[in-house]
Amino acid sequence: MELFKIPEKMKAMTLVAYDKLALAVVPVPVPGPGEVLCRIKAVAICGSDPKMIHGGYKFANWPPYYPFIMGHEWSGQVVALGEGVKDFVPGDRVAGEAHVGCGNCDNCKKGHYTVCLNYGKDGKDGGIDKRHRHYGFYWQGANAEYSVYKTSALHRIPDNVSYDVASMCDCAGVALHGVQLAGVSPAGTSVVIGPGAIGLCAMMECKALGTGRVIMIGRGSKLDKARELGADVCIDFEQEDPVKRVRELTNGIGADEVMECSGAMDSPMKACLMVKKTGAVAIIATYHNNEVLIPANTVNFNEIRIVGAKANPNVSDQVLNFLSSGAIRGEALITHTFPLEDYEKAVDVFEHKKDGSLKVVIHP
Ligand SMILES: [Zn+2]
Ligand SMILES: [Zn+2]
Repeated sequence: MELFKIPEKMKAMTLVAYDKLALAVVPVPVPGPGEVLCRIKAVAICGSDPKMIHGGYKFANWPPYYPFIMGHEWSGQVVALGEGVKDFVPGDRVAGEAHVGCGNCDNCKKGHYTVCLNYGKDGKDGGIDKRHRHYGFYWQGANAEYSVYKTSALHRIPDNVSYDVASMCDCAGVALHGVQLAGVSPAGTSVVIGPGAIGLCAMMECKALGTGRVIMIGRGSKLDKARELGADVCIDFEQEDPVKRVRELTNGIGADEVMECSGAMDSPMKACLMVKKTGAVAIIATYHNNEVLIPANTVNFNEIRIVGAKANPNVSDQVLNFLSSGAIRGEALITHTFPLEDYEKAVDVFEHKKDGSLKVVIHP
């Protein structure tokens, strides 16, 4: 067993008010029973991070307090164990999940722990601690040199996967959960709307799971990466009508399944109109406004199955294997890396898609 010297203090990037970040020196957290301390090696910035910084999750009470350490798409190394931990040892290389369910509610018992019925019940409001955690959203996250996690949030990284690539586990997992809920028709036609990081992962996963071809819908230069990573057909929705084009490409039948990863307000409507009768539409994206239109009669007449996909339950080991085999080309998603000190700059590059940015990774 490797022994690690743990300092008393660490650097952490903290949110101290909406749109105000500060690099701080704070105590290194101590793992409780069933928890481990991890040295964070890589944290990818998620689309939710700038939104949280700007106050876009006020309705969800994220962050719940200041100063708050965000960051949830991380990889690192186990360096110390809390009481009773037997399934990990110091030195283990791991990737983390943001969600840890209570483990006891009906949903958790069925494996649906990202929609735990005890969400947010951590005892901090004076109520009962149901042991639910959502790291980086209402519980301390990974934008720091160290963080503490329950072992159920952790997955071992295959030897040939770097920490940077392993930090794609969350993003690729969000895609895979949606792809699995929709289902991939062997040798069929899968459509992915939105060639961002999650959409690109969904595309590679549809291929790994045996689709016949993937049609990617996006616009302009954003489709270049999709082409590079193996999209069979790219449709630029500014140049042609994607619903019409998908129907043409499928002899009027429609696609077997559509993965909606764009978050554009009109995409769920288009997805339902381009999928075949009895096809599936996965809503993997989130929307600025909750009220999005769908063609309800078409959904009824055509028996379209619409599935919501919340985060990345039960997919991390598969995703890490895909990253290891190269089925998901994690390294191709990472365009920039920054030290923790440059977090604000990193968020700016990520959020405003500067310099062709896709996934931006922080090294605390
Ligand atoms: Zn994320
Ligand atoms: Zn639960």
